[in-house]
Amino acid sequence: MLEARNLSKRYQALLAVDNVSFTINPGEILGYLGPNGSGKSTTINMVVGLLDATSGSLSLFGQRLTADPEEYKRRIGYVPEEPHLYTYLTAPEYLRLVGQLRGLRGPDLDRKIEQLLKAFGLWESRYASMSAFSKGMRQRVLLSAALLHNPQLLVLDEPFAGLDVSAGLLFRTLLRLFVRDGRLVLFSSHRLDVVEQLCSRAVILHGGRVVAVENIENVGHVRGPEASHSLEDVFARVTRQEDYTSVAENILEVVRS
Ligand code: ADP
Ligand code: MG
Repeated sequence: MLEARNLSKRYQALLAVDNVSFTINPGEILGYLGPNGSGKSTTINMVVGLLDATSGSLSLFGQRLTADPEEYKRRIGYVPEEPHLYTYLTAPEYLRLVGQLRGLRGPDLDRKIEQLLKAFGLWESRYASMSAFSKGMRQRVLLSAALLHNPQLLVLDEPFAGLDVSAGLLFRTLLRLFVRDGRLVLFSSHRLDVVEQLCSRAVILHGGRVVAVENIENVGHVRGPEASHSLEDVFARVTRQEDYTSVAENILEVVRS
């Protein structure tokens, strides 16, 4: 589990994050909600170890960030809000770079990259530089990169902003299956509808402070078509969207292999 205790971040006079505490339990997708400027990205950057907290502590499955930052970060996959991809690279080149930074090497890395790109439907575009990629394709590359080293906690900052319907459906299904064996997901959003569909709990932030922690009933698992009522589910049915459960299962099989 992830434990964030009394996290604060001060930028000069501004207290961007003010004494924030929350936990993510095994198997849980926690939504991190709040208006623009409420401190979501600042919190996320502290959780993934990119930004030092002014005060407070973080631990992941009992291991404190400060005790061994490299080990702590090794267990985390992160999809940033601003996707700064090296767009002159192809997707396999980019994933090889990320894999090597994560300490992965050789034929195992190449095999995983090929399988992930195939599973994400990007293999046909393997020779194209990513400057030619759509937003949805770039997001798939970023998610592949975040999953490459088989992390225990996946952290996503506004992952659904600008995604098309197909990419959004795949991402949601993948997150639900990802946590099934006790892993964790933290994602920030201002999309209440998405959080409602996906999360068991949501932390709501305002002015850097936690103003509510909401339990959301009856979500966090893959719903069958007979039980679905949301517009998105109806859309998926009438537009004959792909079965994303098998695509997502395939991706996670590759990730864990
Ligand atoms: P959110 O992701 O919820 O939109 P942020 O965490 O990005 O919010 O920002 C929270 C507050 O901190 C905002 O007022 C923002 O302007 C400020 N802020 C964010 N990053 C910095 C920085 N590097 N230096 C100074 N202020 C910052
Ligand atoms: Mg933000």
